[in-house]
Amino acid sequence: MTSADDLLARSLAAVWHPCTQMKQHEILPLVPIVRGEGPWLIDAEGRRLLDGISSWWVNLFGHCNPRINAAIKAQLDTLEHAMLAGFTHEPVVALSERLSALTGHRLGHAFYASDGASATEIALKMSVHCWRNRGEPGKTRFLSLAGSYHGETVGALAVTDVAIFRDAYAPLVRSGTTVPTPDARLASADETPVDLARRAAAALEAELEARHHEIAALIVEPLVQGAAGMVMYDAEYLRLARALCDRYRVHLIADEIAVGCGRTGSFFAWEQVAGRADQPDAGTGWPDFVCLSKGISGGYLPLSLVLTTDDVYRAFYDDSASRAFLHSHSYTGNPLACRAALATLDIFTEDGVLEANRTRARWLGDALQARFGDHPAVRHLRQTGMIAAFDVADAPAGFARRFFAAGLDLGVLLRPIGDTVYFMPPYVVGETEIAHLVDGAAAALDAALA
Ligand SMILES: *Cc1c(COP(=O)(O)O)cnc(C)c1O
Repeated sequence: MTSADDLLARSLAAVWHPCTQMKQHEILPLVPIVRGEGPWLIDAEGRRLLDGISSWWVNLFGHCNPRINAAIKAQLDTLEHAMLAGFTHEPVVALSERLSALTGHRLGHAFYASDGASATEIALKMSVHCWRNRGEPGKTRFLSLAGSYHGETVGALAVTDVAIFRDAYAPLVRSGTTVPTPDARLASADETPVDLARRAAAALEAELEARHHEIAALIVEPLVQGAAGMVMYDAEYLRLARALCDRYRVHLIADEIAVGCGRTGSFFAWEQVAGRADQPDAGTGWPDFVCLSKGISGGYLPLSLVLTTDDVYRAFYDDSASRAFLHSHSYTGNPLACRAALATLDIFTEDGVLEANRTRARWLGDALQARFGDHPAVRHLRQTGMIAAFDVADAPAGFARRFFAAGLDLGVLLRPIGDTVYFMPPYVVGETEIAHLVDGAAAALDAALA
């Protein structure tokens, strides 16, 4: 037995892996990763895998990035952790100020947790508690889009509409209401994606009109519904949704856990709805809550947060403890994670990342168009910034697993969602790496369809 085989056997015996039917590993071996280097993961046999999905959408600037490593190492020798109730520290203050500035100080209050699902739950709880503090305790229900994904804890499942994650736990979940998705693929032959967005917004309006008195918030994944299979839609929907939420007095929560941190081309996806935050005319149309996680720490450490407005914050500011937001997590505002996030934000500014990503996104789009534009099995080739995807027509059973396994043999890490192949590389890939990724995807597609 090699040491790699030994590690796999020990892992299967002792580690219950996430999002996995463990029995599948009787035929599909685990991949033992020993090292990371920029966009590459290196396994126990020295095989190099190009990380085409940013290690579950978290890694922004490559593995073992020297600048983020240095920032964490310096913090490690200064302060590793301190509780945030009653205490504070420079990394959490500096990060909160930086994020506030990135929203033009419209969302100037940051509340921290460690994972995305907790950020979702924090936003949901804050919304309901805010209405309650304002004398409207009946506003306790949530709206989300069909196919939405906002995390998998019992509270977050209330607004997650992915059957395989939700069905077994239905008796535990107080489900919200789903409204139609503005998925651009659903446009009829004589409709544009904007028309479709307006049609979906009309359905949202009908729901709000009927039930706004009991609805606390609408939660959306702006521009791209990730776990639904990289469903992309027009920003017009979000513009209309914002106006409707204002009209019917319902909070709007932007879950930017996946689409934030530059993924869609702007730092916040919402900038494509309401304009750059630092522009003088960008005054209105922002969400009441923005959730961030995944990329915010560069993909290094668990960190999530909810940004909210003065208006929401003030509804809690009182002499009474019961009007306060008493939510907490042990590692709230962990200094190491905040320092990783600050180093990540530094890279955005020092390297002009959003600008450079426009070129990267063009390389990716051009390479995919050349390879898959006329492919007989490919449907709905689509892209929003550094996310690209296509659907595979008539995919055989087990397509996603076969594609993934074939990709590993070809040196690419790609992990389809059902019949949708998607690309979400870290922001350090060059043209050569993109070519490797797209070549690998083409060969993996042939292998999976054979
Ligand atoms: C990943 C994700 C979450 C959940 O984050 P976890 O850290 O996995 O709990 C929530 N919303 C969206 C849009 C996500 O992509």
